[in-house]
Amino acid sequence: MSRGHLFVISAASGAGKTSLVRAMLAQDQQLKLSVSHTTRAPRPGEEDGIHYHFVSEATFLEVLGQAGFLESAHVHGARYGTSKQEVDGALAAGCDVILEIDWQGAQQIRRLYPHSTSIFILPPSIDALAHRLNNRGQDSEAVIARRLAAAREEMRHVHEFDYVTINDNFDVALQDLIAIVRSKRLQLDRQVACHASLIQSLT
Ligand code: 5GP
Repeated sequence: MSRGHLFVISAASGAGKTSLVRAMLAQDQQLKLSVSHTTRAPRPGEEDGIHYHFVSEATFLEVLGQAGFLESAHVHGARYGTSKQEVDGALAAGCDVILEIDWQGAQQIRRLYPHSTSIFILPPSIDALAHRLNNRGQDSEAVIARRLAAAREEMRHVHEFDYVTINDNFDVALQDLIAIVRSKRLQLDRQVACHASLIQSLT
């Protein structure tokens, strides 16, 4: 079995990244989302082990100290990290893995996995982003204002990514993401690994 491909997806908060990734996963059984560790508290409706591994600061630092994270970062006052074991296990099993992480994590993954593919999702305008952040209804006004400022900071890193999609129309953005995954699966090295005997018999 060939090794899976690693996709990093980043976006400003409110750009629709989580909904788009969820829709990708629903359509594609070969895609696996890495569940991050975080020290932030769960939001209503979030479940441990599904949305995040919600851990204490002490547990996070223990995993970090054992080199258990592929990347980690401080985002909005909390710690976030990607489990090395989870990602490497899924890639070795032939799954394509999605990391839904911020620009700091994306930089670390780019250095560690130069063949990974990074995608940035932009909102159609700053007004649309502000509107979406206001509509979320889960955070206080102070948190929303801080997140809008952080969103601009996050979007300044768009130039570091391999692909960019603009989430104006959800279905169009979803098709963009599916197309990127598909094109990576069709690359020569992957096709040669997946269809070795066919290619051998034909050439
Ligand atoms: P939230 O707390 O709203 O779910 O996520 C806040 C930010 O942290 C988002 O930009 C999200 O992509 C990022 N994030 C989530 N998990 C990780 C992770 O494991 N590593 C890094 N670097 N960022 C993460």
